[in-house]
Amino acid sequence: MDWQNLKYLVVGSGFFGATMAERIASQLNEKVLLIDKRPHIGGNCHSQTDEETSIEYHTYGTHIFHTSNELVWNYINQFTSFNGYRHQVLTTYENKVYQLPINLETINSFYNLSLKPFEVEQFLKEQIGNDYIEHPSNFEEKAINLIGKKLYEAFIKGYSKKQWGCSPAQLPVDILNRLPFRKSYNESYYNSKWQGIPEFGYTAIFEKMLSHPNIEIRLNTDFFSLRSHLYPDTKIIYSGPIDSYFDYCYGKLEWRTLEFEKEIIEVEDYQGTSVMNYADEEIPFTRIHEPRHLHTERNYPDNKTLIIREYSKADDGKNPYYPLHNIKNRELVLKYRALADSQPNLIIAGRLGDYRYYDMHDTIHRALSLFNERMMK
Ligand SMILES: Cc1cc2nc3c(=O)[nH]c(=O)nc-3n(C[C@H](O)[C@H](O)[C@H](O)COP(=O)(O)OP(=O)(O)OC[C@H]3O[C@@H](n4cnc5c(N)ncnc54)[C@H](O)[C@@H]3O)c2cc1C
Repeated sequence: MDWQNLKYLVVGSGFFGATMAERIASQLNEKVLLIDKRPHIGGNCHSQTDEETSIEYHTYGTHIFHTSNELVWNYINQFTSFNGYRHQVLTTYENKVYQLPINLETINSFYNLSLKPFEVEQFLKEQIGNDYIEHPSNFEEKAINLIGKKLYEAFIKGYSKKQWGCSPAQLPVDILNRLPFRKSYNESYYNSKWQGIPEFGYTAIFEKMLSHPNIEIRLNTDFFSLRSHLYPDTKIIYSGPIDSYFDYCYGKLEWRTLEFEKEIIEVEDYQGTSVMNYADEEIPFTRIHEPRHLHTERNYPDNKTLIIREYSKADDGKNPYYPLHNIKNRELVLKYRALADSQPNLIIAGRLGDYRYYDMHDTIHRALSLFNERMMK
């Protein structure tokens, strides 16, 4: 490699890095080296086929593409078409199945009632009663203010404890912004204008995005193994964890990670849906994925199916998934952000670089915006 003349280095081949590399190669018509320490492209959106069942699954958990952003929708449609999948989530609590996000069906089924939408507010007000807290200071208080203690304890408390490894009373209020709640029977998980699963899977998108002759890909390549070869003029676009780039000089950010356990079951359909949450705290996993439901247009076997149990764990620094939002981490990330912003030849972003939960469309939008702001000058 001619390190001295390397103009663009992109670290990470997830949606952030792939979008940046694709734009540099095709819009700037410049050569770019894209590296990833994993043995595959696609970051956490990578998909693969299970050999025994031929069912395609998402290696790092079920991914549904959804967006209302026209720019992102037009961009991604250059590389794939989507099937007609519409996401719906169910949850099992005490051996009974309910709809999520909490909606009129969930409430009526839980309380064995037939409330009408206009009766829900008054009903919940009575349920909340004296538990209402004027100025909620954490996730638990805010949730109880919204839906009352009983629904909170059934559907949120145990699941959140498993997901975040702590009591919801220790989590910030704004986590609840990610939990939609409805007074109608609307059971669609997303409200986005467009949604679906890429017809030929996620990996095929990345193969197409990165097929430009200006892009050289090196897998199994850690940034830190080649950093010493780099020259100051090389523009680095880094989508790994922001604290790692600066050698953890201010301390380590905390993350949650996931572990997945695959099993083949000898029935055609195990759970009737792609994702089933498990709300009870005593059940060690948070969800079961059954990926055959993501592609109902395909011919999958009728005598076996693939299921994947998902477990949430504290991160050992090797496999970061979700940022852990507390004051300490928020302050830490601001300090790292200031360092990154002081270096003109460096862009750090993406879900690991920004230390933020991004959906795929947010990630692509972030990359397209940064490309326009920082690279089109
Ligand atoms: C369980 C789960 C489910 C999700 N479901 C959805 C969903 O249904 N819909 C949706 O829109 N979004 C979903 N998301 C979000 C989606 O995964 C992210 O938006 C997307 O992956 C972010 O892309 P990225 O490029 O920022 O990061 P990543 O995909 O994580 O890519 C970063 C890459 O950088 C590489 N890297 C890191 N450090 C180094 C290094 N030192 N050297 C070389 N390479 C390095 C990593 O190996 C990785 O491949 C989900 C996320 C999770 C965790």
